[in-house]
Amino acid sequence: MHKILTIGEILVEIIATEKGDGFRQATPLIGPFPSGAPAIFIDQVGKLGQASAIISRVGGDDFGHVNLARLEADGVDISGIAVDPLATTGSAFVRYREDGSRAFVFNIRDSACGTIRLDDKSTALVRSCSHMHVMGSSLYAPSVVESILAAIDIVKAAGGTVSFDPNLRAEILESPGMREALRTVLAKTDVFLPSGAELFLFTQAKTEADAIAELLASGIKVVVVKRGAEGASYFDAQTTLALPGFAVEEIDPTGAGDCFGATFVTSWLNGASPREALELANASGARAVMISGPMEGASTRAELEAFISARKD
Ligand code: ATP
Ligand code: MG
Repeated sequence: MHKILTIGEILVEIIATEKGDGFRQATPLIGPFPSGAPAIFIDQVGKLGQASAIISRVGGDDFGHVNLARLEADGVDISGIAVDPLATTGSAFVRYREDGSRAFVFNIRDSACGTIRLDDKSTALVRSCSHMHVMGSSLYAPSVVESILAAIDIVKAAGGTVSFDPNLRAEILESPGMREALRTVLAKTDVFLPSGAELFLFTQAKTEADAIAELLASGIKVVVVKRGAEGASYFDAQTTLALPGFAVEEIDPTGAGDCFGATFVTSWLNGASPREALELANASGARAVMISGPMEGASTRAELEAFISARKD
């Protein structure tokens, strides 16, 4: 059986309950919710019953506990999460604007997960995994980038595969070394999962069709473009396939892309057809937006199947 690994930030998310522009005035909040893009991704993998692990770091505080407890309950191997009693678990404050865009205040680089690094124990964990998923948002500090690149090399040398979701936030794109790291990861990627303008991050091409062709020619096996409420499209050397999104009420879009990616990658690794993998992933993203909280909308396989069949009748 495949075991899927990710490395990166574990955070709590604190959400403003009223829409508005950022955090310059006092505003009501709700949280902490377990969060962090790679953590949401791996929680969704675990919920599908797929073997999964995350390498990260939390503080010896309640925010760390919230995450450890959730990931463990959902079946994720948490042996690679170091608990640093002298550090504080990362956090993200998020507030939605009226137009649906989001403002964030992140504490990542200066939190416990700012010092993730591979040691002998976590390197052994990497060796037990056959697939590595990279979130672009995790390339926020040199030691984390180094750990991710080392893990990619270990997994690929053993015949494994790599998926990559750029998952960029304006707030973190200009981290030192971020662009070079993104380029290095892309060169080793088998399954690329961009949304919106992320498709063009490292292509010469200016149209979607040309960008896809350029990426597939560079050695990427599968490109899946996420399109929010519009659904998603799949591209490989033989197949082009677009599926519409499921019609749902969007309560909280945070985590949709991460749940989508987790469900797509898990299905792809287990030999699902492009149509089946894309449909399950669309269902996973749609269910995620129906529920408030970044990780709260992750689904079991049975929930995805029930959701899809209820919409086919
Ligand atoms: P994130 O903000 O989590 O990084 P993303 O930009 O990576 O999101 P999106 O395209 O927003 O990814 O969402 C991923 C997938 O989730 C979509 O391709 C779609 O399948 C599903 N999805 C997202 N929003 C909706 C919605 N409003 N209705 C139905 N499905 C949705
Ligand atoms: Mg995303």
